[in-house]
Amino acid sequence: MEKQDLRSLHLDEMTALLKELGQPAFRAKQLFSWIHEKQVREISQMHNLGKNLLEQLEQHCTITSMRLERKQVSSDGTEKFLFQLDDGNYIECVLMRYRGDMSKQRNTLCISSQVGCAMGCTFCATGQGGFVRNLTTGEILSQVYEVNHLLQEEGDSLPVGNVVFMGMGEPLHNLNNVRKTISLLNDPQGQQIGIRRMTVSTCGVVPKMHELADEKLDIVLAVSLHAPNDEQRSSVMPVNNSWPLAKLMEACRYYQKQTKNRITFEYALIAGFNDQPEHVQQLKHLLKNLDCHLNIIPVNPVANTAQFSRPDKKQVAAFVKALQQAGLKASVREEKGTDIDGACGQLRGKMLKK
Ligand code: SAH
Ligand code: SF4
Repeated sequence: MEKQDLRSLHLDEMTALLKELGQPAFRAKQLFSWIHEKQVREISQMHNLGKNLLEQLEQHCTITSMRLERKQVSSDGTEKFLFQLDDGNYIECVLMRYRGDMSKQRNTLCISSQVGCAMGCTFCATGQGGFVRNLTTGEILSQVYEVNHLLQEEGDSLPVGNVVFMGMGEPLHNLNNVRKTISLLNDPQGQQIGIRRMTVSTCGVVPKMHELADEKLDIVLAVSLHAPNDEQRSSVMPVNNSWPLAKLMEACRYYQKQTKNRITFEYALIAGFNDQPEHVQQLKHLLKNLDCHLNIIPVNPVANTAQFSRPDKKQVAAFVKALQQAGLKASVREEKGTDIDGACGQLRGKMLKK
């Protein structure tokens, strides 16, 4: 029998497991707290569970482990971690520590939901490598827990408090595990990360967006738009052939109707491709009557994508200003950590080439 990963389990699943092992129910809460609050890495560390139970857990269970293969620190302070999973695959996550006012201090972690990605966006390093497999709930969650351990070891008293699913992979293609990760991170007996402090970014998997909308999960939804018309969007994002802009916008409007939440659109600005005045007008038309914010991200250069060049600072500022004049809410999201292969998927890409 395959061992069960404790990091992938909810309280009710732990309760069922302990019942099977003939253990009293109160042990489940203790176990949950060790795993999801204290984030232990070894079964033997849970010293108040009793010798008998620890032996049973060692026999039937495991705790996801991943090895930090490499850490890179950018000149802007962004840190990028490359982890190796038990089966040898690599995943990346990116930590951004916001300082300044005490009230605004936070550690935000950008995490991966898959090894690789099947969506094939042409500007994306993860997309270039194709799809390998979905991450388990324990593997998604472990990125947060492992980074928390690293923060603690460094004496940073602030654990990860904001989580964005903008690392490798398409989260809505692994929705069950992503959903479970969100609820475990949100659990009052776990990390207690507020639902509104979690963002899920999608390239536009429309049926799953409808599913999310119906669940009324209060997360922040980010949609990778990147082009204001079907012809251009299809040329860089194959997903647009399955669900073109009309369907995507319908799903966004439905999500907003159900949740009342503002939607974030990601727009990678590519010089000479999607940064012209006509594109501002098309965006204005597309996003009419939707409560949304546009994040303009100067495209991050990725290997084999010489055709995607980054507009200079002045061009970016002019584009944002034109959007604002057209009545849209927009700001520049300076791509962090460009000097450390900021776009997720790039570090793993390099590792695989070696
Ligand atoms: N698959 C999801 C989430 C992961 S990608 C999605 O596509 O939304 C996270 C964000 O980084 C997406 O908005 C994606 O389009 C963007 N991205 C990917 N490669 C990029 C690059 N080279 N430059 C700028 N943004 C990029
Ligand atoms: Fe996948 Fe997102 Fe990259 Fe597209 S941008 S290939 S959906 S990870």
